[in-house]
Amino acid sequence: MHVVWFKRDLRIHDHRPLLDAAAQGKVLCLYVYEPELLATPELGALHLGFINESLAELRVRLRELGADLVIRVGRMPDVLDAIRRQHGITALHSHRETGNRVSYERDLRVAGWARQHGVPWYERNQFGVIRKLGTRDGWAARWSKFMSRPILEEPGALRAQPGIEPEGLRSANDLGLTPPSQRDVQHGGEKLGLETLDSFLAERGAGYRYEMSSPLQAWDSCSRLSPYLAWGNVSMRTVFQRTRARSAEVKELRKQKVDLDPRWLQSLSSFQSRLRWHCHFIQKLEDEPELEFRALNRQLDGLRDGNLRNHYFEAWANGHTGYPMVDACMRALHHAGWINFRMRAMLMSFASYQLWLPWRPTAQHLGSQFLDFEPGIHFSQAQMQSGVTGINAVRIYSPIKQVKDQDPEGQFIKRFVPELEAVPPEHIAEPHRMPSALQRKLGCIIGKDYPAPVVEHGPAYASARRRISAARRRPEVREESERVYAKHGSRKRPARRASGSA
Ligand SMILES: Cc1cc2nc3c(=O)[nH]c(=O)nc-3n(C[C@H](O)[C@H](O)[C@H](O)COP(=O)(O)OP(=O)(O)OC[C@H]3O[C@@H](n4cnc5c(N)ncnc54)[C@H](O)[C@@H]3O)c2cc1C
Repeated sequence: MHVVWFKRDLRIHDHRPLLDAAAQGKVLCLYVYEPELLATPELGALHLGFINESLAELRVRLRELGADLVIRVGRMPDVLDAIRRQHGITALHSHRETGNRVSYERDLRVAGWARQHGVPWYERNQFGVIRKLGTRDGWAARWSKFMSRPILEEPGALRAQPGIEPEGLRSANDLGLTPPSQRDVQHGGEKLGLETLDSFLAERGAGYRYEMSSPLQAWDSCSRLSPYLAWGNVSMRTVFQRTRARSAEVKELRKQKVDLDPRWLQSLSSFQSRLRWHCHFIQKLEDEPELEFRALNRQLDGLRDGNLRNHYFEAWANGHTGYPMVDACMRALHHAGWINFRMRAMLMSFASYQLWLPWRPTAQHLGSQFLDFEPGIHFSQAQMQSGVTGINAVRIYSPIKQVKDQDPEGQFIKRFVPELEAVPPEHIAEPHRMPSALQRKLGCIIGKDYPAPVVEHGPAYASARRRISAARRRPEVREESERVYAKHGSRKRPARRASGSA
């Protein structure tokens, strides 16, 4: 009997482990809720909801093919061993995962168990992430080659091992997780994932390149595929190849002078780059798992002391900093489990620079709120936006400039920070600067109806810039940056060392 272990690959299409197992004999399709993984700070009931929706659909699809989805709760080697003792296991098939330390150590235990019992474990790639990569040179070409391989069809039929109790899905309560607060989040499943891809490529994506940074437009103009990629409802190869096909189609339509939004080609090209970035960032964690805990540039590890300064952290994490753009983004994230890239970067940057908080706890908070939490992307980006990689431009986002650039009328802000409903556009970036008489007239007293700023942006910004610049000038930091670039740097263009503000 061949066990197919579903993890972050909750789909039928383009699923090599499932196809391999189906071709070789009876199958047992297995999903295991692993309490040790669910107990990590970044995961919780929010993710469980999406996983369960995906599992419910997967179960229906597997049943149509002749098998069931067998659900268990526990530590993976124990679950496997119980199945082995009852039914015997010929082989274990799964996708390879680049996860956090808990999943990495779990994989080591599974490998040990498999060796001990003579069960071969076949791990297949689903992303363009390469295990035991020697050098970054040529990585992008290998990525493209992998993504260009044919998409695998779903299996025609599955022969199930009889006599196994499938068991039901488990709720947050069953697993001891705090149920999530009311949210308007994306729903899980392969069907919805593929529909999301279709609607992006057919309509929503035309303005992608030009609208992705706007907290007003990004909700529709970005692909919104991230949770479907993170939980594997859609394969990256499918997204890549459909995007390539759409680009070819757009070029052809333009040749034929068909009336088409002129922004399509540039938008599709920007989107394709980001698909590669997905794996580029996960490759960093694959090559250096310590980056979950330590700065990529080790010399910058102690840049910020470990002091979390609770009142700063609480104000930031709850959307009460007194900076409307920061607060609106955090509250939008709590509401929807998603926010666009630019605003994620600003949230992280504000915590790391203006508040000078250590990046780990703030990254953990954001991770727990992102439905698409993907350790490799998340921790790499958190470090990048905190200036501790040493190879990326230092970009300190101004929450005031971001209002002027992205939400000058305050539409987005007012949607998520209703206390500011009456504030006119000229004061929406810094309502604390409204004269007291105006505050009274509008019924929005700063410090009472809406918080006063937790820090003063100007001095905090200047101090952060001084500190980060001084740190990056240190010879040992520069030397370490060379190592980081050699190991992790994108070879697409030279390392960006300049500093900027945004
Ligand atoms: C601090 C911080 C933390 C982040 N954490 C995560 C995370 O946990 N999971 C996650 O998927 N993305 C993360 N991102 C990257 C990015 O913000 C999201 O991928 C994107 O906003 C998801 O929305 P989308 O699918 O509509 O993206 P699109 O813009 O439509 O992009 C399509 C896909 O490309 C990939 N992608 C896009 N931008 C990036 C990027 N900058 N780096 C790497 N891959 C990218 C993602 O897989 C995304 O789904 C983080 C960014 C920051 C600044």
